[in-house]
Amino acid sequence: MTKSNVKFHSHGGKRIILIVDDEMINREILRHTLEEEYDILLAENGEEAFEIVKEKGDNLNLILLDLIMPGIDGKTFLRNIKADNEYLHIPIIVMTADDKAEVECLELGAADFIPKPYPPKDVIMARVKRTIELSEDRDIIHDTERDALTGLYNREYFYRYAEKYDHYHKDIETDAIVLNINHFHILNERFGKAYGDEVLCKIGQNIRDSVAEEGGIVSRRDADNFLVYCPHREIYADILNQATRDLVSKDGSLKIRLRMGVYSNVDKSIDIERRFDRAKLAADTIRNNFNKSIAIYDSKLHDKEMYAEQLIDDFQKAIQDEQFEVYYQPKFNIQKDQPVLTSAEALVRWFHPDLGVISPGIFVPLFEENGLVRQLDGFVWNKVVGQINKWKKDLGIAVPVSVNVSRVDMFEADLVENFKILLDKHKLTPEEFLLEITESAYTEDSDRIIDMVKQLRSIGFKIEMDDFGTGYSSLSMISSLPIDALKIDMGFIRKAFENGKDTRMIEIIIDIADYLNVPVIAEGVENKEQMETLKNMGCDIVQGYYFSKPVPADEFAKFLVEKKNQA
Ligand code: C2E
Ligand code: MG
Ligand code: MG
Repeated sequence: MTKSNVKFHSHGGKRIILIVDDEMINREILRHTLEEEYDILLAENGEEAFEIVKEKGDNLNLILLDLIMPGIDGKTFLRNIKADNEYLHIPIIVMTADDKAEVECLELGAADFIPKPYPPKDVIMARVKRTIELSEDRDIIHDTERDALTGLYNREYFYRYAEKYDHYHKDIETDAIVLNINHFHILNERFGKAYGDEVLCKIGQNIRDSVAEEGGIVSRRDADNFLVYCPHREIYADILNQATRDLVSKDGSLKIRLRMGVYSNVDKSIDIERRFDRAKLAADTIRNNFNKSIAIYDSKLHDKEMYAEQLIDDFQKAIQDEQFEVYYQPKFNIQKDQPVLTSAEALVRWFHPDLGVISPGIFVPLFEENGLVRQLDGFVWNKVVGQINKWKKDLGIAVPVSVNVSRVDMFEADLVENFKILLDKHKLTPEEFLLEITESAYTEDSDRIIDMVKQLRSIGFKIEMDDFGTGYSSLSMISSLPIDALKIDMGFIRKAFENGKDTRMIEIIIDIADYLNVPVIAEGVENKEQMETLKNMGCDIVQGYYFSKPVPADEFAKFLVEKKNQA
């Protein structure tokens, strides 16, 4: 781990000063002057002083240095300390009778001077105090610039330095690069946080080493996300290969892999953060892609970005004009002789006046990035409770409806309270309003999500884990999950029936659900063969085009009427 620059003071809480002077009388005068306020260490010459610096290192708060000494003299000592990365930030006050030496010593990095013969005690005290304060302030600034774990620039300062970099290198073509560790949370879970930290440090250092020479700068933006701003290059594999140099997982079983997004030869007229958004956009295209670890921002992504921007721009008006509509897709229990309607899933659609119908698969992830999804989900939840009541009133029947709760919603402090208010207002119970939370939310922000899920369940909400199988939950996590149903991700149904039938994955998931004692819901079931097979395997509930596509509320009423007639 990189050293922090916050210093530890001696046991009594006093700061430590090293006095280096070959004349005993000088050492004693200074000791006398300072020992009430400071802890004092003494050295007779440069060699001795070096030993002390090596031993105390960062804990020294100040060195008072005589210039003329036998052996290693003051200037040589000063030069050596300032050339050493580890010690160069220890402030040094030079003591000399020769005022001509001042400029040279300042250039060598001295912080201040005390003339000989010594000035009055309070002058010495004042200079010493001020020098220590200044140096500590500077250390604090240094600390606020840096990420405490890796010692790399933190996000905010990184952006500032990148701007400075541009200022001084106007004509140099530059690349913005983001790097992210694939499935970092698995590493953390399997080998512990301390090991995870070690990996982050090592990777941070490796990346810095590979771009430092040409003047590139590096940041740990947050978690396992690294940013690089460096002169343009044609080949990026080197950075990637270097980054994982000397790294294998603790027991050698897990290869640590990174993915990298590059916005090459950046447009310097756009905002610095936006340049890195572009690099991230590229990186996101190869998330979960085992064959590709470098992605470049290109014109296709550019078009996508422009489209995304339009959607974000249009969002508020769309909410105002009610361009969003909630569709409902039925879920059937298939373990009875006849399929029985058990509930519905609410799925939002956007009827955009210029762009036509837009699928939530496109705009939800976008609105998750900037928090707009909270507003959207609030809108949807309101519509859903209103609709449940309307069905009750008009048809005398309703079924529970599940809504999709974004991971972003789960970070809202008053989520539980808001749900309560919403249901109270419409006199509904939590059994009528089910919540779907995607598995990857659990794995990415597990503590927070699990805590929130527990709160929601404690007041009666039922939680369905959505898209199960795509979030890379670990087995240990699964066994302690607070959930009420597992929804198998559509991808598994698709794959199982693709080329010949291979339903092993589905069987495993059904086994997991049995173990957890919760029902399994299969989504994306499109034909009879899939339905029958799932039924025989013991899957409880099915949702998919085989029964119905998501339909507007009016159309959904027919399922309710049917159910009413069955009863
Ligand atoms: P999801 O929650 O996993 O929803 C299931 C998706 O599968 C829906 O896509 C549904 O239309 C589709 N689907 C259902 N049966 C079949 C089938 O048999 N075949 C095929 N090919 N597809 C089927 P949709 O409506 O496009 O929604 C996509 C995703 O957007 C949802 O995945 C959900 O994660 C998110 N989403 C939808 N509505 C909302 C919402 O109101 N709030 C939030 N936060 N997310 C939402
Ligand atoms: Mg869902
Ligand atoms: Mg799903």
